[in-house]
Amino acid sequence: MAEKDYYKILGLDKNASQEGIKKAFKQLARKYHPDLNPNDKNAEEKFKEINEAFQVLSNPEKKEKYDKYGDSAFSEEDLSQFRNFNFDFEDLFKDFGFGDIFNIFGRGERGYESDYQEGEDIRYDLNISLKDAFLGVKKTIKIKVKERCEECNGTGGKESKTCDKCNGKGKIRTVKRNGFAQFVSVSKCDKCNGKGFIITKRCDKCNGKGFIEEEQELEIKIPRGVNNLQYLRVQGKGGIGINAPNGDLYVVIHIKNDTEFKREEENLFIEKKIDLLTAILGGTIEISGIDKDLKLKIPPATQSHTVFRLKNQGMPVLNSSQRGDLFVKVIVEIPRVGKLKEKKIKEALK
Ligand SMILES: [Zn+2]
Ligand SMILES: [Zn+2]
Repeated sequence: MAEKDYYKILGLDKNASQEGIKKAFKQLARKYHPDLNPNDKNAEEKFKEINEAFQVLSNPEKKEKYDKYGDSAFSEEDLSQFRNFNFDFEDLFKDFGFGDIFNIFGRGERGYESDYQEGEDIRYDLNISLKDAFLGVKKTIKIKVKERCEECNGTGGKESKTCDKCNGKGKIRTVKRNGFAQFVSVSKCDKCNGKGFIITKRCDKCNGKGFIEEEQELEIKIPRGVNNLQYLRVQGKGGIGINAPNGDLYVVIHIKNDTEFKREEENLFIEKKIDLLTAILGGTIEISGIDKDLKLKIPPATQSHTVFRLKNQGMPVLNSSQRGDLFVKVIVEIPRVGKLKEKKIKEALK
């Protein structure tokens, strides 16, 4: 058998990377794929050759053998196996783990649902205090994450056999004749549910589910100034995807109502009781701010429900060094008669 130059077949030199090999194969496959060149024997032959070259060079073990010994490293049988494969777009590319066959050939639709399914997004509701939102906080949350079972590679089976109904294709072609017309329909194989194989022995590790659910602890960093119902996205921690990315985890922040402070965006609001004398004569009162004690000057003759504004004593503004303001509504406490000496009141009102 003549020595074959697999690199040359793919139009590459010997230093080609795995990426380069895949890329070259994709390009050539697009050109010579028999489905795109019906009844063209040359294209078919060429495609077999490309495939053979790719099968060898894309496999590190085979590639090493080939680099050392050339194609004599493989038996005739091996080589014919590299060449003979099902001329089916999906099967072909699925085996090679590309998963983007439809992108390559520009086909808009996906084959079957079981072939491609994006992982679902998961929501986690996290309660924090207003103080936590003020300071920013790290919280450890526990979530149940589904991870693909490594043991069975997500199939759920320890042992499996090719589906005999669809011959491993996962779909069934039905031809119906109606007079001269012929209708071909392709449907998902009901025996294997489109998978192309049937599990004969369940995977013990995942109990046949194909995934393992485990509790994971995740540390969530909550930034200063976070607001109610804002969320943090943790990429890839949602449901598992099939030939598709995992879903994401959305941590939705709920800020518990604070007994003292009300919040509107970056501003805080409190009420503070002051006594009648301070309201009338004026004075300085102490306020517990969100992070420190503050002093507020009350001018003489202050009416009840007057609102004072303390600049930059509110919540931090998210992703900024600015702060909102603190609004203090003073409530004048009118003492019950008898508690305060009449004389003192009269004095104050002079
Ligand atoms: Zn398993
Ligand atoms: Zn089947």
